Amino acid sequence: MTVQSNIPKLGARNTKQRTAVVEVLREMDKFASAKDIHQELQAREAKVGLTTVYRTLQSLSEIDAVDALHMPTGETLYRHCESSHHHHHLVCTKCGRTEEIDGGPIEAWAKEMASKFDFELTGHDAEVFGICAQCRAKAA
Ligand SMILES: [Zn+2]
Ligand SMILES: [Zn+2]
Ligand SMILES: [Zn+2]
Repeated sequence: MTVQSNIPKLGARNTKQRTAVVEVLREMDKFASAKDIHQELQAREAKVGLTTVYRTLQSLSEIDAVDALHMPTGETLYRHCESSHHHHHLVCTKCGRTEEIDGGPIEAWAKEMASKFDFELTGHDAEVFGICAQCRAKAA
């Protein structure tokens, strides 16, 4: 018996769409919006609707299968990350190039702030934005 047949709610179609979305993310190798991913899927003639792409990305980010990045513009971008352990991102706002970085002192600071205000810590979020050396060279 396959695992799939044990999960009636997650039908073969759903699984196929999920796989297609993850595959595109893996190959894009940078943060992309749901629209970008939808466009790429269409270019590959994968029949996945935009709503399904949104829903799939959301459920993937809930199980930490993809990283969600909340941009200052209010847009949410997604990426398939190489590291499965907790990390942060340094993102070039021009080309989308991303470095996976350590949280460093942020980790202890988050714990400290939560306990200071008597919060039970459930998570934290911190991304660093900038312009990479390549993009700066191009602009010069
Ligand atoms: Zn990452
Ligand atoms: Zn760049
Ligand atoms: Zn962290």
